[in-house]
Order: sequence, then C-alpha cells, then structure tokens
Amino acid sequence: MNLILFGPPGAGKGTQAARLVARHGLAHVSTGDMLRAAVAAGSELGRRVGEIMDRGELVPDELILALVRERLQQPDCARGFVLDGFPRTRAQAEALDRLLAELGRALDAVIALDVPDEVLISRIETRIRETGGARSDDNAETLRRRLEVYHAQTAPLLDYYRDRGLLYVIDGTRSIDEVTRAIEEVLGRIGKETG
Ligand code: AMP
Repeated sequence: MNLILFGPPGAGKGTQAARLVARHGLAHVSTGDMLRAAVAAGSELGRRVGEIMDRGELVPDELILALVRERLQQPDCARGFVLDGFPRTRAQAEALDRLLAELGRALDAVIALDVPDEVLISRIETRIRETGGARSDDNAETLRRRLEVYHAQTAPLLDYYRDRGLLYVIDGTRSIDEVTRAIEEVLGRIGKETG
C-alpha cells in the first residue's frame, strides 16, 4: 500500500503517518525529516537548506526529488510507504508519477487532512508554548509564510489527485484518534475496491 498523507503545515500528517507505520508496517518517507537530518549533519548543503526552511520557503525540487528517489529504493519501502510532506509542487507530483512508473509502483490513495488556517495557527501557537519552539521553523512569522506557500503551490495538487480518482479528504480538526479512525475507514474502502 503506497499512500500520500497530504495537508497544510501543522495538520497532523507526522502524527498520523507514525500511526500508519506502526499499524501497517509502511515506511515513513518524510522529506521534512530528511531535510532536518541534513541540517543536523551540519554540511554546507544542510546550512543552505536550513536557511530556506527557517524562512518557510520550499527547498528546490531537484534536491527533494534526489532525496525521494534514493529513499523509495531502500528495502523498507518495498512493503509500502507513506509520503509525508511530499509532493509539495506540481513539478514534484509529476516527477513522482514518473519515478513510480520507473520503479513499477503505483499510488493507492492520497489522504488529505483538511484543517482551516485559523486552527493551524492556534495549534502552532500551542506547540510553540509547550515546546519552547523546539523547531527553528516553529514561529508565527514562518508559519504565515508556510501557509501562503501551501495555498499557492501545494493545495492545487488536490485537484491533480482528485482528477486521478485518488483523493480522500478527511476532517483534520477532529481528535487524533478520530482522524486515525477516518483514515482506517478509507483504507478499508480502498481494500474492498481493489479486492
Ligand atoms: P515539514 O516537516 O514537512 O513541514 O517540512 C519542513 C520544511 O522543509 C518545509 O517548510 C520546507 O522548507 C522543507 N520541505 C519539506 N518537504 C519539502 C518538499 N517536498 N519540497 C520543498 N520543501 C520541503
């Protein structure tokens, strides 16, 4: 089973991806986590990427695609994967289609967590209070930019996947457990449809 968990920053993609990994043995492919690892490694590339992330902008497609191409060929992805935070642009979505065709794989579903901006802003404010802003891109200014980028570049992909019959939208304002249940319900439906 190959999934995309889609949604704006702070929608709960990481939390739900971790549950899908635990429950279905899928590999968690988070481009944000991969980039944070590159930043933590302290390379020159990591430094440049960190500056882009701190501004709330997108890291160049070619760099992201190189990371994803390598990651999807690792053995743990053979049993299925959940993409979290990727694709974020039309170019990334098209490149993903080409890459999956090349690897002889296909997407089963794109599960979008729908959360309005006001809810995301109040959630991030809570997270900053509770963690003391552990992530350097966790601040109100960066979030505003991340949301602008999401609406301009990433949200249009909803139509891209709706047109392909892959899109399932879930109300992401509900509790973590309720969202998990809604995701499991979608997976059950897909299971039935594909026999
Ligand atoms: P995330 O943890 O997915 O919210 O990602 C954190 C930051 O990493 C984003 O705000 C971007 O700067 C960068 N990033 C993560 N995934 C991508 C992607 N697919 N394309 C471009 N930039 C990304």
